[in-house]
Amino acid sequence: MKPLGLFGGTFDPIHNGHLRLAVEVLEAFGLESLSLLPNKAPPHRAQPLADAGQRLAMARLAVEGVPGLKVDDIELRRAGHSYTVDTLEAFAGEHPGRPLLFVMGMDSLLSFTSWHRWQRILELASLAVCCRPGHLLDPLALDTRLASCLGEGPVTGPGAIRALTTTELAISATDIRARIAQGQRLDFLVPQAVAQYIEAQGLYRTPAAS
Ligand code: ATP
Repeated sequence: MKPLGLFGGTFDPIHNGHLRLAVEVLEAFGLESLSLLPNKAPPHRAQPLADAGQRLAMARLAVEGVPGLKVDDIELRRAGHSYTVDTLEAFAGEHPGRPLLFVMGMDSLLSFTSWHRWQRILELASLAVCCRPGHLLDPLALDTRLASCLGEGPVTGPGAIRALTTTELAISATDIRARIAQGQRLDFLVPQAVAQYIEAQGLYRTPAAS
């Protein structure tokens, strides 16, 4: 059974950097689908400027007509802060026997052993670790318990860590919000439908503290 890809983010707003990454993970692992999971910002971090419904709407517009990409609002529906482990428990319950592939950046892997119940995460899912071109994953920089999960080839179950080099477009949500506040255009940074939604909702026009 092919793994189900899962990619979380604040997506405030979703942009072509996120979308390109998602497509490259889909292709690299031959996935049938990859779900984008808009998340709630942890209370101690800067809060998103767009509300949950708006971030969800933008993500849905962004994947419309893109084969394989989906959006799941599981983390927004759950009361309180969502831990990745809870999300994965829910997916594992809904898709018994289906391997789960959770997407993260190399920075996240380096701090992964500080995540809530990280060992349980690896019992539920495998990790696709996206590395920027020229930045290979150094097993010696990793906790030995993670380094031992590194490998190559198809993902057939939980507990595997696979590194892949992905194109990193120099696009960030922070930069997009700043451009909007300065009245600049968003062409080729976000899908056209997302740009239109931002405009129609009057999002991000005020320079943000975030
Ligand atoms: P912000 O600028 O507000 O911090 P962001 O652009 O990093 O936002 P997030 O929603 O925080 O967007 O990112 C979700 C995930 O996407 C993170 O793992 C982040 O590393 C990754 N990501 C963000 N921008 C890019 C990009 N241009 N290319 C590849 N991955 C990206």
